[in-house]
Amino acid sequence: MVDIRSVHKSFGSLDVLKGIDLQVRTGEVTVVLGPSGSGKSTLLRTINHLEKADRGEITVDGAPVGYRRAGDRLYELPEREVLRRRTKIGFVFQNFRLFPHLTVLDNVVEAPVSALKRPRAQAVAQAHRLLARVGLADKADAYPAQLSGGQQQRVAIARALALEPRLLLFDEPTSALDPELVGEVLDVIRDLAAQGTTMIVVTHEIAFAREVADTVVFMADGRIVEQGPPEAVLAAPREERTRAFLAKVL
Ligand code: ATP
Ligand code: MG
Repeated sequence: MVDIRSVHKSFGSLDVLKGIDLQVRTGEVTVVLGPSGSGKSTLLRTINHLEKADRGEITVDGAPVGYRRAGDRLYELPEREVLRRRTKIGFVFQNFRLFPHLTVLDNVVEAPVSALKRPRAQAVAQAHRLLARVGLADKADAYPAQLSGGQQQRVAIARALALEPRLLLFDEPTSALDPELVGEVLDVIRDLAAQGTTMIVVTHEIAFAREVADTVVFMADGRIVEQGPPEAVLAAPREERTRAFLAKVL
């Protein structure tokens, strides 16, 4: 599903990704851990082509998001086509990023109508189903500011699902939440995992990773230091840097 090969990314003289190789299979959950500044967000953004890799290649479902292949050369796609391909990849951010002037329902309806040209009535029916799925059927007419952080994040997840993505990327989806609201968001993500949604989740929630991840990836300083099933990486890490990190967050 996602194939990342030898990806490098720098910002000026700062090398942020120093040769990342990672494969994510369809239906699997990959949890990415690592200290601040290790390149986790940059990696997610590069998968989505919000950042361009300097070297290496990323394909999602067999094709790069930002390029067209002709023979062995890659050509940049026009923005319109990049946006179209990006609709197949849902992205959920730490700080929700809902549209404040739209109701909860319209936040979920917006993308399918504008990006996929769905009839509004169809998008509305789907939005009601998705809001029920994240436990917010009764909040359709509320505005984001009237919701708790956990509720806003669940709306953001419903909004991402409205495009029926093949892949969901989560960048610290619970880091901005009060501790008592973390569980309700993790429950939704856990549910998606149980239904076979392919996901890459950057999080510091180790217990969640242990329970839900098929693969845990530990990043430090722009590299994948260690990856494998949670019982290996979390319970018996081989690398000293992984052990030191886990000792801090556990
Ligand atoms: P955190 O856990 O704090 O979110 P992270 O692992 O997600 O950290 P990134 O956000 O990927 O780390 O950042 C990696 C490094 O790249 C940091 O040093 C950051 O300052 C730098 N960086 C990220 N984006 C940019 C940018 N657009 N321009 C310049 N530097 C950037
Ligand atoms: Mg980050």
